[in-house]
Amino acid sequence: MPAHAKKLLLANVWGVQCRQEVTITDFAGTVVRGDLLLQEECSECLGDVARVIEMK
Ligand SMILES: [Zn+2]
Repeated sequence: MPAHAKKLLLANVWGVQCRQEVTITDFAGTVVRGDLLLQEECSECLGDVARVIEMK
């Protein structure tokens, strides 16, 4: 993954618990039905953040 794309992925994540955009600190990606599912940790509240990145 290109560094700039990775940086984009790590920024502007909606934190469900924070109810604001947060920066994530760690993530693990798994591919689910062709899409990338990221399971992440919010840097603000350490809550779980999950989202799906469509890989076209
Ligand atoms: Zn949070």
